[in-house]
Amino acid sequence: MNIKECKRCGTCCSKGGPSFHFEDKGIIDDGHIPAKHLYTIRKGEPVRDNISGRVIYAPSDIIKIRGQGNSWTCFYYNEDEKKCGIYEYRPLECRILKCWDTREIEGIYGKSLLSRKDLFSKVEGLWELLIDYDERCSYSEITDLIRETGSRKRRRLPGKAAELIEYDNTIRELVVKKGNLDSDLLDFLFGRPLSVTLKTLIQI
Ligand code: SF4
Repeated sequence: MNIKECKRCGTCCSKGGPSFHFEDKGIIDDGHIPAKHLYTIRKGEPVRDNISGRVIYAPSDIIKIRGQGNSWTCFYYNEDEKKCGIYEYRPLECRILKCWDTREIEGIYGKSLLSRKDLFSKVEGLWELLIDYDERCSYSEITDLIRETGSRKRRRLPGKAAELIEYDNTIRELVVKKGNLDSDLLDFLFGRPLSVTLKTLIQI
């Protein structure tokens, strides 16, 4: 079959939401996509590359639209109507993706990715907190730790990782309770919890 136009099969929307590029900043700034529908893959976090299918380490922040429940299907995809719930404001990757010719999307893949710094560096207090968190819970250091201790072979996390998971859980609880932060924003501001991502890290 020679496909030359979108048949609205929904396959691309079911494989996961798009990554945001700098060009998409206005969609978030103007509230067309609320922050609570986003999550961040932090620098160094293991992630499956949609094009090669291999697991790679995120080169920088990758901000994405959440999935639906436990599935990767984009939060805004309406399965029954085969429709995008934010079609007018869909991000760049969704606008240029043509499943029958992926050259255009491959051309921007991993380039000018939007980061939390682009969005929050001027928010006093919050930005300093995020920098401190990223330093303490740096994926490159955790990966080195797992490598050095041979934890991957034993499929068990080293003791220091357990301390980091506890720190991560505590800081999330604190910003929700004392900072009155909506808990739905945690995965966007701090990335996914270490208790989830570190399990993946020892399995790859
Ligand atoms: S934003 Fe819309 S077009 Fe893009 S993946 Fe989600 S449902 Fe599909």
